[in-house]
Amino acid sequence: MKGLVYGGPGVREWKEVPDPVIEQPTDVIVKMTATTICGSDLHVLKGDVPETPAGTVLGHEGVGVVTEVGSEVENIKVGDKLLLSCMTTCGRCANCRKGLLSHCLAPEGASGDAWAFGHYINGTQAEYCRVPYAETSCYRIPEGVDDRDAILLSDILPTGFEIGVQNGRVKPGDTVAIIGAGPVGLSAVATAGLYGPARIISVDLDDNRLAEAKKFGATDGVNSGAVDAIDQIKALTNDGEGVDVAIEAVGIPPTLQLATEIVRPGGHVANIGVHGKPVEIAMEKLWTKNIDITMGLVNTTTLEMLLNLVAAKKLDVSGFVTHEFSFDEFEKAYDVFADAKNTKALKVYVH
Ligand code: NAD
Ligand code: ZN
Repeated sequence: MKGLVYGGPGVREWKEVPDPVIEQPTDVIVKMTATTICGSDLHVLKGDVPETPAGTVLGHEGVGVVTEVGSEVENIKVGDKLLLSCMTTCGRCANCRKGLLSHCLAPEGASGDAWAFGHYINGTQAEYCRVPYAETSCYRIPEGVDDRDAILLSDILPTGFEIGVQNGRVKPGDTVAIIGAGPVGLSAVATAGLYGPARIISVDLDDNRLAEAKKFGATDGVNSGAVDAIDQIKALTNDGEGVDVAIEAVGIPPTLQLATEIVRPGGHVANIGVHGKPVEIAMEKLWTKNIDITMGLVNTTTLEMLLNLVAAKKLDVSGFVTHEFSFDEFEKAYDVFADAKNTKALKVYVH
């Protein structure tokens, strides 16, 4: 089969690799029908994720049809169509039983978290994929959800919802600011709407992304490059004191700092971004404000609920896919996704 292989920093190739085989009795093999590319794949490619060995097939999102099942798999049959979660979870360890799926203790999560595909094991950007702990890591796709939408549920939608909206405790009538309007920030914009906030302010440096955010339910857009960006955001709140919830979806110090500057006393800061270096937080100004700051790795415990909402057409995710490619155009798909500034790519649908 062919797969998109990480060949060491800066090197990627769509090339022939061995077909995956059942290694554990709880595995299944799927023939991938659709997958996509995530910013994390670009981080691996840059060499920012040293635990990923050269030779690994990338990708942790996608949909496939089962071609083979391990001897202990009872509830999945050959021919079933499955949505793969970005988290590979045994469902039985102490962390899984607490709902902390992202920290599954089973062996496939060798380095302390459950992001296994395209990280410690071969991933989903391939013609076939071995899925460990299939019964507790996959979801059946309800009638009426096509692959183009389903691929958004492996990672970005649960991430925006769990780590942004739920951790940020968004509630009806709130003013919510979401900093970063990439696929993850826009997932937070789209799913914040489920809780009925009065205002959703999207904050980004890119005016095109701010315009996109309005399609997902943002009521306002503020370009954080403006010298008075903080004043502009505060002017959009009822009493000028700041937003109830500030969600960070970029992953750099200035944007997390901005989140702490625009939140009102008693509010919530929910960090989604993956940070590559320490962030200085002005505790001397913040400690009296009664705010909380949360962070975390997505558990995908809300994946099925979000999938049902998409199936019921209560969550419109049709705006995420901007480009479409076939598997043999995978390298082109990477070129387009990596140059989002010029191509205006959000999610690429590779099938
Ligand atoms: P992305 O790079 O596609 O989008 C980031 C957006 O931030 C872009 O629109 C960019 O214009 C904007 N931006 C950059 N600098 C800015 C600034 N100074 N002010 C305002 N906006 C700025 O990223 P993404 O794929 O949407 O992911 C967002 C973050 O979420 C990343 O850090 C990613 O690693 C992280 N993430 C976290 C989890 C988790 O479980 N916590 C899961 C998936 C992704
Ligand atoms: Zn587990």
